[in-house]
Amino acid sequence: MLPLLALLMLAAPPSGGVDAYLRALNSVPDAQRIAQWHELLGSEPHIAGTEGDARQIERLRAAFVAMGLQVSVQEFECILPQPQDAVVEIVMRGAPAAGTAGAPSEPGARRGVIPLSTRERNLAEDPSAQHPGLTAGWNAFSGSGDVTAPVVYANHGTKQDFQKLKEWGIDCRGKVVLARYGGNFRGYKAKFAEDAGAAALVIFTDPADAGTKKGKTWPEGGWANDTCIQRGSILALEWPGDPETPGEPAEPGAAPAAGTPAIALPKIPVQPIGYGAAAQILARMTGKPVPEGSGFAGGIPAEYRLEGGPDLQLHVKVVQDRARRRSANVIAALPGAVHPDQWVIVGCHHDAWCFGAADPLAGTIALMESARSFTEAAARGERPDRTVVFAAWGAEEYGIIGSVEWAEGHRERLLKSGVAYINLDMAAMGPNFGAACSPSLGEAIRSATVRVPQARGTPGEMVYDRISGGGRKDPQFGDLGGGSDHIAFNCHLGIASASLGSGGSEGNSYHSNYDTIAWYRSTVGADYAPALMITRMTNALAGLLADSPVVPLSAARHGREAQRMLQALRDRAKAPDLVAAIEPLQARAAALAQSGAQLDAALASALPSLRPSDRERLDQLLLSLDRAWLDSRGLEGRPWFRSMLAASDRDSGYAATMLPLLSEAVDAGDVARVQAAVARYGEVFGRLEKGIGDAQSLVQSASAPSGPPAPLGTR
Ligand SMILES: [Zn+2]
Repeated sequence: MLPLLALLMLAAPPSGGVDAYLRALNSVPDAQRIAQWHELLGSEPHIAGTEGDARQIERLRAAFVAMGLQVSVQEFECILPQPQDAVVEIVMRGAPAAGTAGAPSEPGARRGVIPLSTRERNLAEDPSAQHPGLTAGWNAFSGSGDVTAPVVYANHGTKQDFQKLKEWGIDCRGKVVLARYGGNFRGYKAKFAEDAGAAALVIFTDPADAGTKKGKTWPEGGWANDTCIQRGSILALEWPGDPETPGEPAEPGAAPAAGTPAIALPKIPVQPIGYGAAAQILARMTGKPVPEGSGFAGGIPAEYRLEGGPDLQLHVKVVQDRARRRSANVIAALPGAVHPDQWVIVGCHHDAWCFGAADPLAGTIALMESARSFTEAAARGERPDRTVVFAAWGAEEYGIIGSVEWAEGHRERLLKSGVAYINLDMAAMGPNFGAACSPSLGEAIRSATVRVPQARGTPGEMVYDRISGGGRKDPQFGDLGGGSDHIAFNCHLGIASASLGSGGSEGNSYHSNYDTIAWYRSTVGADYAPALMITRMTNALAGLLADSPVVPLSAARHGREAQRMLQALRDRAKAPDLVAAIEPLQARAAALAQSGAQLDAALASALPSLRPSDRERLDQLLLSLDRAWLDSRGLEGRPWFRSMLAASDRDSGYAATMLPLLSEAVDAGDVARVQAAVARYGEVFGRLEKGIGDAQSLVQSASAPSGPPAPLGTR
């Protein structure tokens, strides 16, 4: 059943007000123009800290300036490693060691030594994959080292996988661990391998996840061919952003404060390869096959074994520098006409491991076209009430650095009047829309889907029609944790955040030299229909947030989503004493859902009679509900994570952990810790109750005997 607020927001759009503004915004986006953004920004590799990155920053600056936005290029400086060397070789027993007498200088000619490819094959069909600015495969922040050792296969290299190896009596100490992508963030594979005593880690793309088992491979199809390599950072600290300045911005030229403890950066060499190279290793392994039903077997047509046996060694050499380099965020603002201090922020990173046609540009092109939509409307005299900030973030790929440093540098300002953050990383990847968001943004996103045509849909079909199964089911949006540039807004500052995206294309070029415009047009489509849909969704959502008379953040959803999350935790807790500790919070969440729904309804009907000062105060009260989840003590062992609502999973990195303080206490099975967490959530709920109560009083006292209810989306 739709909640009352959603019904009100789904009502036929009236003329004038925010709806007219949204129509004006969404008359602007153009697929041809989006294709041109793609050509401009996907013209060369642009790894953070390189010359290509500096040129990309200048392109973005110039484009925003040409639109008439207030632009600032905000530099930061931090460790941004660059690859120097990468070698992976199979060394069979009896082969002379590298560099010793008897080893001919031609690497491939050494007896018993089989060099493996660390780079994508060149393709006549896509010559851009030979660009000199491209690199061999590498994992940023790998240790530098030169290791020759026997092999252990560790499946996805999750905490559980290493636990199983231990149970099976497999010793990883001093070995080269071979693991496949998937199951967790790659940084945790490196961390757990290092914890298990491994000497090196080789990570491969498994064809079951992204290659032949999924479909035709590039260039015949869109999936990873046998030389396709996933690059990526392995930074996995207890905070995102610049590793040396947790909680503080990384100003250019500022060395870390004296006495700063050494940061635990990865020590062992870590090297990614394609599945063609991995197949050569697997084919020569002679240890015990992986146990049946263990989930360790993948898609390479060879027996997956736990150990390489006595005759097989891998030689892994990785050399990277750890120099400080500069990159920058490009921030472009359209000042609001009524509340210039209130910020609606739309962002996507601009850096990439290669050309980045999909990651990040499938989102950055929508960011640019959305900025163009707002500025075109402004040029015709249609300016939003609140300020809209368009942010192209730097060095996301290295550890979500640019956005985190910016958020840390603008903390007080954002806490006071940051309305919402919308992230677009890789957003336009197919016709099927999806979103993950903070509870308070659920209604606004739903409202936006009603106003945007479905990509490649039937005539008149809206995104809402598709995601609701023709109105048969309540559309669901995912829980938002970390994993991209929303993390500082969502998990550190308690600002309502959303990640918009779309999928449904057959292929994957993620972090590889094949992530080119040719790949994107062949796989996602040359029509740019998904990017047009994402641009319009961004316009509709940012427009609603920036131009509604009161910020359209749902009060009811705080309690409703907390109810759902608490129920899930209770189901997971099982033990009666843990369940008993959680129960009182469930009752309070139910009451919060109810009072929140009453507030949303009262606010909708009182809107026409509210004075500007009342609206301003209501904005502040609604923003305070998102901030109510903040606790300056942070999570256990992770003080940077101040939101008690959402965090990234501490053992996988990609997944979201909701109600993280309580969730981690439940998983620890520790009653005292659960009770302490419940007490802290009691404080959060107390702040929510007060904020909702204050807003209810204000609406009651401000609304004269009123006429019929008006939709929230009117001015
Ligand atoms: Zn990305």
